[in-house]
Amino acid sequence: MRISSHFDGGAIEFVRQTAGADGAWLELDIRRDSTTDAACDFRQWFYYRLEGAAGRTVRMVLRNAAACTYPDGWPGYNAVASYDRRRWFRVATRYENGALIIDHRVERDVAWYAYFEPYSWERHMNLLGGLCRPARLEDLGATVDGRDLTMVTAGSGVRRVWIIGRQHPGETMAEWFIEGMLQRLLDAADPVGRSLLEAATLRIVPNMNPDGSVRGNLRANAAGANLNREWTAPSAQRSPEVLAVRERMQHTGVDVFLDIHGDEALPYVFVAGSEMLPGFTPRQQALQSAFCEKLKEASPDFQTVRGYPTGKYDADALKLASKWVGHTFGCLSLTLEMPFKDNANLPDPEAGWSGARSARLGAAVLVPLLAVLKELAAA
Ligand code: ZN
Repeated sequence: MRISSHFDGGAIEFVRQTAGADGAWLELDIRRDSTTDAACDFRQWFYYRLEGAAGRTVRMVLRNAAACTYPDGWPGYNAVASYDRRRWFRVATRYENGALIIDHRVERDVAWYAYFEPYSWERHMNLLGGLCRPARLEDLGATVDGRDLTMVTAGSGVRRVWIIGRQHPGETMAEWFIEGMLQRLLDAADPVGRSLLEAATLRIVPNMNPDGSVRGNLRANAAGANLNREWTAPSAQRSPEVLAVRERMQHTGVDVFLDIHGDEALPYVFVAGSEMLPGFTPRQQALQSAFCEKLKEASPDFQTVRGYPTGKYDADALKLASKWVGHTFGCLSLTLEMPFKDNANLPDPEAGWSGARSARLGAAVLVPLLAVLKELAAA
């Protein structure tokens, strides 16, 4: 048997293979995010290829799961696997004595395993290349590794909507979400998309962290920065991705901002708002509530019962994108979180939360966006 991860988004460390009475064991370690910063210690994302195990039951022991960034992410979690990297399914996984143990009866010569359904750089470029004409593409600048940071602009209305995804590159559900959203937004047969394009100019950055995505990182860019802690003082050396987007936002202004993420531990879809910020207005609260109510109607995957506790405000809060934007522009500004595990209110034992479900949620989010823009127009 052979384990490899030297491909787009790949990440694992092979330790050893042992043969037990009950089948083959592979001992693996989840590796640190790949960056130039020796102090950067995020680890949680894994994505690897297993070859030569067809017909065998293989136990894969990810030995250092307890030492990962979010050990709360492991109880109740099942890894995803695929034979063709198109259809991903969940495989029985348990968290025991600090290790994540995946038992799988492997049916093919080659199988892939990952923390969540990957979203490849190739797919990212195909997404951009396939956008139909109402959208415009623009590179905002180069990443630390020199990749393009691409913004999609669509619509011609006066309201300014900004949506970004994958500041945390291992949260691939964010780019699945944006793909589903863009498809509906640019579908000439869809009245919601068309109305939005009339009402607003939408600026969308599908992947804020291309380097981390290709390097197979959970959180960091190539310089070791957690981009969602860089918004008060981004720098050209450490966080050029945030610097470029922030500069453009200051130029355009913002009426609505969504920052798309995945949460390791909570098995729900939820948003985190800006209500703890000084200067948060009743108007912002009303828009936030209206958005949530409309999203609940548009997608039963969304709920408002479970989520993060509303933290007390401290200065560090403004390092987060949605807090900084909400505070700077006084606008509706939300972080949207999807689960790595599943939506416990509407579980799918075979797929769990998936790329497809993220894309459907992305399509659904156009409904509350349109509703909120109508409220802005009425004000
Ligand atoms: Zn995140």
